[in-house]
Amino acid sequence: MSVLVVGSLALDSIETPFGSAKDKVGGSATFISAAASYFNSPIRLVGVVGGDFPQEGIDFLERRNVDLEGLQVIREGKTFRWAGRYHYDLNERDTLSTDLNVFEKFDPVIPEKYRKNNIICLGNIDPVLQRRVLDQLEKPRFVVCDTMNYWIERKNEELRETLKQINVLILNDSEARLLSHEPNLFKAGRTIRQMGPSVVIVKKGEHGALLLTDQLVFSAPAYPMENIFDPTGAGDAFAGGFVGWLARTDDMSEENLKRAVIYGSTLASFCVEKFGVDGLADLTYLSIQDRFRQFRELSRFDED
Ligand code: AMP
Repeated sequence: MSVLVVGSLALDSIETPFGSAKDKVGGSATFISAAASYFNSPIRLVGVVGGDFPQEGIDFLERRNVDLEGLQVIREGKTFRWAGRYHYDLNERDTLSTDLNVFEKFDPVIPEKYRKNNIICLGNIDPVLQRRVLDQLEKPRFVVCDTMNYWIERKNEELRETLKQINVLILNDSEARLLSHEPNLFKAGRTIRQMGPSVVIVKKGEHGALLLTDQLVFSAPAYPMENIFDPTGAGDAFAGGFVGWLARTDDMSEENLKRAVIYGSTLASFCVEKFGVDGLADLTYLSIQDRFRQFRELSRFDED
């Protein structure tokens, strides 16, 4: 099964307590596609960049075998830019600036051959664009959607419309509280499920992730990491690992969603070990499997 990824391609400027970088290739679609590419299913990207997007970004995606037929290049436009600063508590991040640039007028066009039989991963972009993508698809197999505070605050009504058409919403704990107006995450998950998605995944940074459905509460640990360089893209890498596994197995049962959450956590853990997308550049399926198994050991215990 193939994965259709729609989201931002960006030039990110990042400050962490351990260093800083300017105009690093990033964006939700870049991180998601790279992470999903390790599961051997075709990955198709739809997005937009300006004439200033570096060739190195294109080369990176091509090396990961990502199909770029749906990538629009606006030669006279500027690429989306985002700047953020992390604190010693790496779960805390300030957005310093968001310049939508070519995204302001972006009209996603899904190539004919991408319209059927995909798992869809709607990366973090304007919910209006996310819906325009869904409108062009024929019976998507499964729709996974990511969002963030920027859109919850600015496009709440539009986001609510998008939520009616998706299967899974992935968001972090503060975003879940913001969207649901509910401090308790289990209640927040229930409130969000009433908005549309039957599955809600709440990411809790270095404290793991919760998979919530009407029947299930599954709590995944986070990988104990001593060297986190740059958390940017961790959430997207999580989404990429999650959809990558679902595409490989074509099994949306709750047991398999649990595995997908652990694969998501695995890819996120690789992502944060280096700056920008570098952590997702040279993995092997074997190294991913190895870390996946370590996750099982983290919370396995005997009854007596
Ligand atoms: P994450 O750390 O997983 O939340 O994702 C960070 C990535 O999201 C960065 O590469 C940014 O370029 C991208 N990003 C940040 N804000 C937005 C936004 N408002 N719309 C689309 N992409 C964004």
